[in-house]
Amino acid sequence: MGKSFITVIIPVYNEENQIFENINIIRDYLSKTEMNFEILLIDDGSTDDTWFVLKMLTETHPGIKALRLSRNFGKEAALCAGLEAAVGDACIIMDSDLQHPPELIPEMVRLWKEEGYEVVEGVKALRGKESPVNKAGANLFYYILSKFSGFDMNQASDFKLLDRRVVQAWQSMNEKNTFFRGMSAWVGFNRISIPFNIRKREKGTSKWSLLKLFKLAINAITSFSSFPLQIVTFMGLVFLAGSLILGIQTLYMKIKGIAYSGFTTVILLLLIIGSALMISLGIIGTYIAKIYEEVKQRPRYIVAEEIESRKELSVKQ
Ligand code: UDP
Ligand code: MG
Repeated sequence: MGKSFITVIIPVYNEENQIFENINIIRDYLSKTEMNFEILLIDDGSTDDTWFVLKMLTETHPGIKALRLSRNFGKEAALCAGLEAAVGDACIIMDSDLQHPPELIPEMVRLWKEEGYEVVEGVKALRGKESPVNKAGANLFYYILSKFSGFDMNQASDFKLLDRRVVQAWQSMNEKNTFFRGMSAWVGFNRISIPFNIRKREKGTSKWSLLKLFKLAINAITSFSSFPLQIVTFMGLVFLAGSLILGIQTLYMKIKGIAYSGFTTVILLLLIIGSALMISLGIIGTYIAKIYEEVKQRPRYIVAEEIESRKELSVKQ
């Protein structure tokens, strides 16, 4: 068997001030694996000079490909673009800000190549320094998500090595709104995890806003569980039981002739049932919106431009 070929997929969004050195560092670790590799950079519609830097990278280094999406589609879509364009026998997915330590790459490749694991997952041993709000938010999100979807993703990260077969399985999942972490858990296969510590981001800021995270959370839950819809049914049953009891009591009082104007009950019932109905409609609406998104069959992303290193560069490699 010849040398294996590995594609390293890196989504990049507004990282002009660190992407050049970071790719150099990642390349150094890659060359330690004695595998052939290509680095596939996906510019997720950056508004700074990231694309210019990526162009420079392809001009000065061998084995680099870059795609530019036509606008900011979000990291999930950028990962899709990467996974669909990747040709390697295995793909490594990592962030561009070195928060996913490249020094783990040789070990990941070894586990895949020598021990036959098809998925090597980086799991967060310690979450890096985060604000308490972020930490609490993340904990709550993962708690709800694992309860609903049945996958424990608290320590899961997007830092992974996937075998070709896993990438193909992943590609057979047709949903337009993807949640990479959940989908790569869902496909199964022979997997192993290796812990790593999240480093502090050196330059630039995290690209996630609270709103983006909230959207990701809703997307993750609704993609992997229809349990919220069943809560609606469950609440309906609880209220049915309650109303039976109340109904019997009311009738009893009516027959006995001791019925009186029970405004408190009426108001309370209105409030409770009203809010339960609204929440239920909201949940149903969220799923319908999701169906609507899916039936539109829009592409997950649009590639505006594609460049790669010149061939004569790779001879020197
Ligand atoms: N990213 C992206 N599109 C986005 C937001 C982020 O491609 O809309 C990339 C970003 O350049 C980085 C990775 O996704 O390579 C992780 O982003 P970030 O470091 O901001 O997230 P965090 O580490 O805070 O989870
Ligand atoms: Mg980061």
